[in-house]
Amino acid sequence: EITFDGCNELVSRFEAVVKQPVTGGSSVYYTGVDLGTACVVLVVLDEHYKPVAGAYRYADVVRDGMVVDYIGAIRIVRELKEELEEKLGTELYFAAAAIPPGTDSLDGGAIKNVVQGAGFEITELLDEPTAANAVLKIKNGAVVDIGGGTTGISILKDGKVVYVADEPTGGTHFSLVISGAYQMSFQEAEVYKRKEENHKELLPVLKPVVEKVASIISRHIKGHDVQEIYLVGGTCCLTGIEAIIEKQTGIRTRKPENPMFVTPLGIAFSC
Ligand code: ATP
Repeated sequence: EITFDGCNELVSRFEAVVKQPVTGGSSVYYTGVDLGTACVVLVVLDEHYKPVAGAYRYADVVRDGMVVDYIGAIRIVRELKEELEEKLGTELYFAAAAIPPGTDSLDGGAIKNVVQGAGFEITELLDEPTAANAVLKIKNGAVVDIGGGTTGISILKDGKVVYVADEPTGGTHFSLVISGAYQMSFQEAEVYKRKEENHKELLPVLKPVVEKVASIISRHIKGHDVQEIYLVGGTCCLTGIEAIIEKQTGIRTRKPENPMFVTPLGIAFSC
């Protein structure tokens, strides 16, 4: 049984230091770089592995875990790095990064090259579910990461990842549904979707696409002994998504207060 207390505390601390970095006093800094389909996130930890700064930017440089705009990706990571260096008054040298489960053979080192190209020394390249679990600390269950382009499913047994899958359905599809239903552009739909005050009204509209995600989850965890599902990833910020997934899969489904920054924090912890 996990309570998410440590995870919620870390995420709130991260959100606070994005606004107001904690400067000085650390001999070394560790950076986690999360290159996502929708969002590029940098998390900086101090020598005690406490979040001291962070930055994120919505960008279109990665699709379904693959870098599609290599130069653009390097530029964004470098800009965020410089922004944080200026705020912290120090240079950032070391970074860890993560790749979606099952893409290591396809990725061809692109994510690693982007992080290095932006001026970091890579200390660790790990898979996303392992990174998320550095914060969640789940022993048994499924971690479901619903991002922008994809849904990643990983099954943990005794704290180890025993099964991973990544499927191309995520928040982008949610935005496309909203765009169609409300006659909005994709960009407008994205902004509308991210506002919490719209979630109650959006949930029935998005129910079919959430059920599609739930059926993907069910398909992958079939045959495994999964008692609990833990939701992470930006799309899980949607209020009420957990209830639909729980009902559809028949498995207890839980999520931390802010599921968006769990994986980026976990990446930094693995630095
Ligand atoms: P992927 O894992 O597919 O590469 P990513 O790492 O960019 O993508 P995340 O940053 O975890 O994914 O999530 C991005 C998605 O979360 C986007 O589709 C975005 O619209 C959605 N999202 C972000 N905030 C919210 C919110 N408050 N409510 C609903 N959806 C949100």
